[in-house]
Amino acid sequence: MAKDIFYQTIAELSAALEAKQLSSVELTRAVIERTKAVEPRVQAFNSFDEADALAQAAASDARRAAGEARGPLDGIPIALKDVIAVKDQPLTASSKMLANFVSPYDATVTQKLKHAGAVLWGRLNLDEFAMGSSTENSATHPTHNPWDLTRVPGGSSGGSAAALAAGEAIATLGSDTGGSIRQPAALCGVVGLKPTYGLVSRYGLIAFASSLDQIGPFSRTVEDAAIVLGAIAGHDERDSTSFKTEIPDYRAALTPKRGPWKIGIPKEYFGEGLDPEVGAAVEKAVAHYRSLGCEIKEVSLPHTQYCLDTYYVIATAEASSNLARYDGVRYGHRSANAKDIVDLYYQSRAEGFGQEVKRRIILGTYVLSSGYYDAYYLRAQKVRTLIRQDFLNAYKEVDALLTPTSPVPAFKLGEKSDPLALYLCDIYTIGVNLAGLPGISVPCGFTAAGLPIGLQLIGEPFGEADLLAIAAAYERAHDWSKRTPLL
Ligand code: GLN
Repeated sequence: MAKDIFYQTIAELSAALEAKQLSSVELTRAVIERTKAVEPRVQAFNSFDEADALAQAAASDARRAAGEARGPLDGIPIALKDVIAVKDQPLTASSKMLANFVSPYDATVTQKLKHAGAVLWGRLNLDEFAMGSSTENSATHPTHNPWDLTRVPGGSSGGSAAALAAGEAIATLGSDTGGSIRQPAALCGVVGLKPTYGLVSRYGLIAFASSLDQIGPFSRTVEDAAIVLGAIAGHDERDSTSFKTEIPDYRAALTPKRGPWKIGIPKEYFGEGLDPEVGAAVEKAVAHYRSLGCEIKEVSLPHTQYCLDTYYVIATAEASSNLARYDGVRYGHRSANAKDIVDLYYQSRAEGFGQEVKRRIILGTYVLSSGYYDAYYLRAQKVRTLIRQDFLNAYKEVDALLTPTSPVPAFKLGEKSDPLALYLCDIYTIGVNLAGLPGISVPCGFTAAGLPIGLQLIGEPFGEADLLAIAAAYERAHDWSKRTPLL
């Protein structure tokens, strides 16, 4: 049976659009119908604007008819995590604080996608302000994993992963501060790429921890990730941390002629807490690379044990500072019960933020406060340098590192109520953010219960072309991404 249109890839659909076998309006309608059919069960979206999407699709068809099509994304429905600004559309960060906020401007990635002709479709649910690993911290509703609706899709970009796995978009964007693209991609059986820090502009992304945040794509295949990354990457004067670098043709880099590579297996990533089915699937992937002629080498990242602590000092410190702007004065939730201006700050923040966000602000304020700054924040920054150095040392010997993405497959909604249990979900993804490196999660199997498993590959700074080629070499010989959930 032919694949449903909403489960096809960008590469397939753009070829069909080009050959005029399909119009963008037809494709967008199919995605809208699919979304309406499954959304009551999956609940991946915070909002969508059907009329707006269809108008964009019609404009794409008109461009194509006039011979002015703009490339592989023209006419393709792509949905964005609800922390990425789209002019005149709601932007909530899944927080009560921004429940009624409408963005007055486009993020740079939004502008770039518009420029490429993509049909921007809907805003996707997340853990409030991207703080979490299950999407249960959303102030509105949890999202359900399409492979098992009683389970979480991962987080914080759970809506972005679930929507794609459910056929409610052809690709999506998320953001990754400590694993929020890669972990939900693994739990939902799709590809998720966190680019090198500085490759993709953060302008118009609601800030969580600015020295760690990166926007990146979710897609069905590595090739689609290469297409979307090519469209959103590049220097931007409006983001002072954006890096000036040539953007290679990532898609062209996927040729099977590349390789074999030297692949490092960090021994610290295969210890206690790793689910045996996940471990076995990842071992099989290692064996596959060996069969391709790759040299497999055990390496050590000795400061791995400090990653989680370091992250929760730096990320909370930056969050406490970034979230100070929500004061109930200029925009966002304003309390109706305030007695005076100071009380207005207190009440607006007390009413607007959820529990996990408050926990982070309190912790972050503490580690930055005078007397504790040196002991915590400054020290964490020093350890961060050591963590980055571990990775750079490993790259003297190998081209990429291979690890599990998440220690466990999707867990039940409500199962992990202790914040620490959730923080442990990021044990294999957080080091990549602290070191500023690119990381990709690729489907590498299913558990006996039918839950997806993800493989993480970690590349050198700005080495996305190689990283994608290495990921494609695995994907080419496996068809995990062709399976779809029974919804
Ligand atoms: N789960 C991690 C956290 O809660 C990472 C979140 C993210 O990458 N945005 O902070």
